[in-house]
Amino acid sequence: MSSSKDVDALSEVEARKELARLAMEIAYHDARYHKEDAPEISDADYDALRRRNEAIEARFPNLVRKDSPSLKVGAALKSGFGKIRHVKPMLSLGNAFNDEDVAEFLTRVRRFLGLSDSEELAILAEPKIDGLSASLRYENGELVYAATRGDGSEGEDVTANMRTLEDVPVTLTGAPAVLEVRGEVYMRKDDFFALNERQAAAGAKTFANPRNAAAGSLRQLDPSITKQRPLRFFGYAWGDLSEPLAPTQAEARERLRSLGFSLNHPTALCRTVEEVLAHYRMIGTQRAELPFDIDGVVYKVDRLDWQERLGQVSRAPRWAIAHKFAAEKAETVIEEITVQVGRTGALTPVANLKPVTVGGVVVSRATLHNQDEIERLGVKEGDTVRIQRAGDVIPQVLEVVKDGGGPPYRFPAACPVCGSDVERDDGEVVWRCTGGLICEAQAVERLKHFVSRDAFDIEGLGTKSIEEFWTESLIRQPADIFRLSDHRDALIGREGWKEKSVTNLLNAIEARREIPLDRFIYALGIRHIGQTTAKLLARSYGGFEAWRTAMTAVAEERKGNPDEHKKPELIGPAYAELTGIDTVGMTAADSLAAFFGAAHNVDVLSSLAAMLTITDVEAPVAGDSAIAGKTVVFTGTLEKMSRGEAKARAEALGAKVSGSVSKKTDFVIVGADAGSKAKKATELGVKTLSEDEWLDLANASAGDGSEASN
Ligand code: AMP
Repeated sequence: MSSSKDVDALSEVEARKELARLAMEIAYHDARYHKEDAPEISDADYDALRRRNEAIEARFPNLVRKDSPSLKVGAALKSGFGKIRHVKPMLSLGNAFNDEDVAEFLTRVRRFLGLSDSEELAILAEPKIDGLSASLRYENGELVYAATRGDGSEGEDVTANMRTLEDVPVTLTGAPAVLEVRGEVYMRKDDFFALNERQAAAGAKTFANPRNAAAGSLRQLDPSITKQRPLRFFGYAWGDLSEPLAPTQAEARERLRSLGFSLNHPTALCRTVEEVLAHYRMIGTQRAELPFDIDGVVYKVDRLDWQERLGQVSRAPRWAIAHKFAAEKAETVIEEITVQVGRTGALTPVANLKPVTVGGVVVSRATLHNQDEIERLGVKEGDTVRIQRAGDVIPQVLEVVKDGGGPPYRFPAACPVCGSDVERDDGEVVWRCTGGLICEAQAVERLKHFVSRDAFDIEGLGTKSIEEFWTESLIRQPADIFRLSDHRDALIGREGWKEKSVTNLLNAIEARREIPLDRFIYALGIRHIGQTTAKLLARSYGGFEAWRTAMTAVAEERKGNPDEHKKPELIGPAYAELTGIDTVGMTAADSLAAFFGAAHNVDVLSSLAAMLTITDVEAPVAGDSAIAGKTVVFTGTLEKMSRGEAKARAEALGAKVSGSVSKKTDFVIVGADAGSKAKKATELGVKTLSEDEWLDLANASAGDGSEASN
């Protein structure tokens, strides 16, 4: 380094020169590190350069350069991580909680594949690592990017950080031209304890468990911090691939190992449900001694061609399941019972506990779910209770172990936030506040949900700002967000807001004026309409206007006969179409009807729609195949594959599979012994196909866009 003069001793002229030199030098090292992957100096030396730059700037704030490295970090801080769209979605896993669930899983797989009892079904059992999943993309043997799972379709770009992990090879020899390796970023238990000790000694934040520590360490905007953290990576899966890795899961893992990845252990190849369960119990006894936290065992169908046939349901593969371990328990005293009002107005009683450590995490609150649960448990303030924590799940109260002698608990008759009446539907256990948008708890929660990551994802509009803008009436409903630019001057100069941060916020808002329909629907926070259902709706109706018109019709149909509408003869066409969409049940349909039946919601929707460009969502497989976008109905017994597989296959090709025949049906596939549906198809003039004709059509339609996948 050319200059090593003490910062305090620099004159203004020298400082100006030194800042110019540092800006150039740091930019040079940034490029060597990030773009060329060939750093010339150690991280410590690099950090020293940055610290020197900052120290000089602190002494001479008027000399801060436009291209100062400190501003670049500032920019990176504000924009957070870039986004990466996964070529193949990153899935979640279905859960099994007991032996029956596991047996059922195996039966389901056998049935789907149409295996006879004598045919062997090999299952690979692997420990389920409690970390966070990441996807590493290699092209021609070079790591091109790394992303977190995010919402499964889009994750955060953590390339620079993942490169700092020793377990992550930067180049591969002998790998397929395109290879996405997926696996878990985790922290060993001993490393975690040591890290927490170091953090505590330095007066820095400590972590509740190894998973949080891993997530917090990976998601650092400054990769040099990540590098100092003891993160590791196990490879256990793959995404996009230019050629198959191997014929089986076990062999594919070996291939990953030979490419330089670490594998999670212990694993076992099991052939019967008994073998699977024996392995689960064996891992259970070893759990405490394993160097890393696990929260269960994952079972995967070993044959990859079978995995491909099994495909996925919603967000989880059909060929795998996670068998969870039982939760951890502890005893403590309930100090107070309070009631929270959620985003949808649901009142949830919460036990505020004398803090207690459960499996290494301090717990001070546990959910009591609802009034019925309180009565069932017979809990009161002052009682000693047993609680349990299971992974990510909110801790729960299991039972009363000692009566504290206090009076019985009385559930409130009014909303603790806005004072409106509370109501509960027949047969429902949850009380709800009737205040809707006037209830601060709901409106604020709805707004937070509206801007959240999976919804509008507006950066810079966090919980705190929403609450602040709500209190000052700047944002009272979603549409107000898009009017915020009218208040630009009022915003600048408020505490914590500068011209720059206001501009950034307003730009972030502008950027979201165009929004895909599925995100829009999800953002509305309608009860029972989660991300998956929102996606289904968007895909089925195609565009916003079509969806709105259909939902208005559903609400109208229901208005005529609010309770009677469930009788088959009274189901209207719009309602029938809605519930005909795969997995959209009556609960979701009724909830949509209720939403569109309330004037204040319709108003909110109209004013929003007027300000936005809501983009259409296309069916999953584009192209002009004979099947994409068509509505098909299966009837009778199929001979070549099970009904489940046929349905999954049709959906994978972009078809909508419906349970009933109407004028909108494009094809009815008629198996053996078909009954009324085949007859109805003929009456309505809907085209019918034999199973073989259907298979020909499906085979002709495949080919475009389908490739080997995990
Ligand atoms: P969940 O998030 O509970 O739905 O479980 C799915 C997650 O389990 C995946 O996204 C992975 O992050 C994680 N996981 C941990 N170990 C494994 C494993 N051996 N195979 C597959 N997934 C795993």
